[in-house]
Amino acid sequence: MPTTRAKGLEELFSDTLKDVYYAEKQILRALPKMAKSASSGELSEVFEKHRQETEGHVERLEQIFEAMGKPARGKTCDAIVGILEEGKEIMEDYAGDSALDAGLAASAQAVEHYEIARYGTLRTWADELGMKDASKLLDQTLQEEIKTDQQLTKLATSAVNRKAA
Ligand code: FE
Ligand code: FE
Repeated sequence: MPTTRAKGLEELFSDTLKDVYYAEKQILRALPKMAKSASSGELSEVFEKHRQETEGHVERLEQIFEAMGKPARGKTCDAIVGILEEGKEIMEDYAGDSALDAGLAASAQAVEHYEIARYGTLRTWADELGMKDASKLLDQTLQEEIKTDQQLTKLATSAVNRKAA
């Protein structure tokens, strides 16, 4: 048995909410740079569109914090810092290279997969905690992350990789 005070699912939920809130804010800062770096107009558009959606993700999280009576506060998420750092390296190492877009799309997919994992978990926990509104908001974001991932897959398997070949 743990020796520390029991925290329970609600605290785990709010800690994870802080993690993803931090992640979304970092992603919001990274997406314009990715859009600017992409050589494919289509890829750039996907990044720009998702930047706008990401603003909504931040707002939805703020709504959930508010409903819980907690201040919207992020908690450093080392995972997203690492994933975005790798993306930055791709942008630097492959600037001007024909494989740049393939690398950018792959980096963006790593970000989306991280978010999909987090939002899937958070939605499940919200359901278990009986937080219906939060569950709905988390699901809306989850669906946008999934759709973005699918768009990236489509781009990555067509033009982007053909160009890199
Ligand atoms: Fe997001
Ligand atoms: Fe996303």
